[in-house]
Amino acid sequence: MYQALYRVWRPKTFSDMVGQEAIVRTLRNQVMSGRIAHAYLFCGSRGTGKTSAARILTRAINCENPQNGDPCGECGSCKTIESGASLDVYEMDAASNSRVEEIRDLLEKVDYPPQFGKYKVYIIDEVHMLSNAAFNALLKTLEEPPEYMVFILATTEPQKLPSTILSRCQRYDFGRYSEDQIAGHLHNVVTQSGEKAEPEALNLIARAAEGGMRDALSILDMCMGGGETITEEHVRDALGTADRTFLFSFADALARRDGAEALRLIDQLMRSGRDVQVFLKDVSAHLRLLMAAMLCGPGEALPGVSGENIRRYADQAKQFSQQRLMRVLDLSMRAEADTRWASSARSVLEVFALRACDQPEEQDYEALLERVAELEQRLSQLEQSGVRMPAPGESGQSAPKKPAAPKPAPITESAVPPGSRAPKDVWNDMLKIMKKQEPAIYAPLSRARYGGYQDGVYKALFAQEEAIFSNMLSADERRKKIEAALNQCGGLDAKFQAVSQTPPPDPNADKRADKNMADLIDMFGRDKVQIDE
Ligand SMILES: [Zn+2]
Repeated sequence: MYQALYRVWRPKTFSDMVGQEAIVRTLRNQVMSGRIAHAYLFCGSRGTGKTSAARILTRAINCENPQNGDPCGECGSCKTIESGASLDVYEMDAASNSRVEEIRDLLEKVDYPPQFGKYKVYIIDEVHMLSNAAFNALLKTLEEPPEYMVFILATTEPQKLPSTILSRCQRYDFGRYSEDQIAGHLHNVVTQSGEKAEPEALNLIARAAEGGMRDALSILDMCMGGGETITEEHVRDALGTADRTFLFSFADALARRDGAEALRLIDQLMRSGRDVQVFLKDVSAHLRLLMAAMLCGPGEALPGVSGENIRRYADQAKQFSQQRLMRVLDLSMRAEADTRWASSARSVLEVFALRACDQPEEQDYEALLERVAELEQRLSQLEQSGVRMPAPGESGQSAPKKPAAPKPAPITESAVPPGSRAPKDVWNDMLKIMKKQEPAIYAPLSRARYGGYQDGVYKALFAQEEAIFSNMLSADERRKKIEAALNQCGGLDAKFQAVSQTPPPDPNADKRADKNMADLIDMFGRDKVQIDE
């Protein structure tokens, strides 16, 4: 019969347990010295070994022939408890069993001494789920437990326990496993099962399990059994995460501030049925690796990455300034948290992508540093292409005059039939709806100016440098949503058009240099920039 890996690999002795060394040492010593407490509280998140430790401790204190604090596994007591037939050991899950009668029933039996072993043990899992009445009943027993009675309470949420209970227990906090501990254990499991796995595949599982061994083994279970080497691809398929190449493309779009491309990739991701939260987690992990690559320098090892991928991270890291990378990472981690309560996870992801591509607000000190770093980078590029920066005090006369900004064209409105709403009001109401229902559309839309209503068409005007937002809103899916909202607000068979006020810049080097020049003039003042032909 098939048995889940986490059952097969459940540790049977303290020596089998992965990690939690301090706890294991203390419990072992108690078994050896015979100084057993009446109540233990095992706290920690799921899959950190609480239940396993509780079962081992139960067998160890009843074992007829304990080995260095571990249960022997051979004696009558060990075998009876192991088979679940012992009348001296009760295991109960408060999450499914929190009725007060049941705990009362259990506590009434406390008065009967153990039938075979030395101790009678009650293991209560998820003990924080007990009702108040049940806690009171338990408390009574804990105040004056019979000599042979041992309670092992386990919980993921100790803060929910009454302090009266907490104060009567010996408390042990089970920490989450490190990714290395998990990957190491998985490696043993795979090897001893006679299978093979790429180290990167196991690292990916370890990361996804977030410190829980049971989850890690369950994921491994999904990837095993094919008889072939477990690859990163297998794991990504099982987890529903995006592959590394996709993550590189996405980060590349962010690096180039190409919001339209980022949104296209998100759309592709959603079509293939990936989970937004999982993807954001992957993005954060990717950005962290870029940060590590940036700080380590080329050729140095990155956690969980091998071979040519190390180079790819190092190369991509060069596209970001350190400040920018920190900011994007910060944004992605916030988005990760936001998806937990947002009604549309996709919108959170899209807004994250747009923010990450956005030019920073300059009043923010870190953003300003980021901007300076970018300008410095451009400056050194310019200097290489023959532009000289005068020393402070020297004044440059030959800077080209920056053309005055063109006056915005007057808005034209065609007449609407009598009794209809004014187009401007329809527009404003549509914005309110978008803000509430479609934040990912509202974010770019809010950057536009109302461009008037003509022959059934509402226009949104975007500045030239924001052409990317105008392109985004021109996509059919978004345009139709805006049109639906306009009609809902009183538009008459309304159409929507996003307009970029001047044609998007021709992406050739000269123009880029001009843009760099304009930035420099903005930054340092017109009289400080001089061009040497
Ligand atoms: Zn034994």
